[in-house]
Amino acid sequence: MAKLPIFREFDTDAGLAACRGAAGNDGGDERSLCMGNTSDKLNLLGVDRASLERWFEELGEKPFRARQVLKWIHQRGVDDFDAMTDLGKALREKLARVATIRGLNLVTDRHSDDGSRKWLFELADGNRIESVYIPEGGRATLCISSQVGCALNCSFCSTARQGFNRNLTTAEIVGQLWEAGRLLAAEGARAVSNVVFMGMGEPLLNLDHVIPAVHLMQDDFAWALSKRRVTISTAGVLPALRRLGELTDVSLALSLHAPDDALRDRLVPLNRRYPLREVLAACRDYVGEGRRRVTIEYVMLDGVNDSDAQARALARVLEKVPSKVNLIPFNPFPDSRYRRSSAARIDRFRDILHRAGIVTITRKTRGDDIDAACGQLAGDFEDRTRRRERLAVAATGGSN
Ligand code: SF4
Repeated sequence: MAKLPIFREFDTDAGLAACRGAAGNDGGDERSLCMGNTSDKLNLLGVDRASLERWFEELGEKPFRARQVLKWIHQRGVDDFDAMTDLGKALREKLARVATIRGLNLVTDRHSDDGSRKWLFELADGNRIESVYIPEGGRATLCISSQVGCALNCSFCSTARQGFNRNLTTAEIVGQLWEAGRLLAAEGARAVSNVVFMGMGEPLLNLDHVIPAVHLMQDDFAWALSKRRVTISTAGVLPALRRLGELTDVSLALSLHAPDDALRDRLVPLNRRYPLREVLAACRDYVGEGRRRVTIEYVMLDGVNDSDAQARALARVLEKVPSKVNLIPFNPFPDSRYRRSSAARIDRFRDILHRAGIVTITRKTRGDDIDAACGQLAGDFEDRTRRRERLAVAATGGSN
């Protein structure tokens, strides 16, 4: 079978690389992981257009076949080469010999009273991840996972409690959208219009697989989502954030949650490695001077980060960052140490930001009856993070 070019491994510092090490996702099997293969057949679900065109050329075929195949896979949800009727029979047989189109196994499909749904998917290695579908008004947002678990250990996050296993492959990332598309089409339900990388994991610690997935989401021959309709959310992995701007132009969200380093060090331990002002400066650089704004995510924790003084401090640190703020009422999970701020406190916090000229909305809590609300995704997997590797920032001092 022709060889695909390997997407360049994102090079981050040693502490964060622990994440990859724990995932067993380095070395010789990068190609198969990158493409989501578990057999010797290439899983085309995880291959973006540029790579697919090269692959067809290496097969001795015309590169435009890539566009035809992408449309069949991503726009029509086809997983059988025989159904690709604009390809000749010989090519269809050839593709079936060397490639496959394999999605994820749906384990559970939970419906919330508010219309949102949480899907638990099983991967080929038995790990399980979650995605959430949130229809609202004229849009339907799919919140997807980028890793099996997360190593960043944010103290208010349910995923963090589960630990970390490995990065998702491109096929597994796109597979969540693909499975959602097939399910919703079969039911005649509203198709996904927006994708947010806000499920399990830190997407910027998996850039190698996230970037080709984003390319597919934005490709007119695949999902054709505009840059406004794809949002990557990060806790602030600084080198990767800078690199993201060179590789893509999707919308950016920052999980901020605190207006100063002392508190953010406790809530988001990554802050000990990449402090708030540097991360905010990188966000400002990412969106530039145009009309784009960074979405600032701020989970409202009773008595922790929700005072008037903290609202004013937040307004000050955001002064030079084109941004809008999403206040997220905390969604408790078993053994969580925090409580949700009262509705009155959240309103007051929002009003202070408004008066400072910052567009601020309070995010409606969706799907909390099915544990699908923000910060509640947990999946089902074995934690492969060794204590000393759990994020690493721990080594920079301070207790959480
Ligand atoms: S909040 Fe996001 S970055 Fe932090 S531990 Fe949870 S999934 Fe990871």
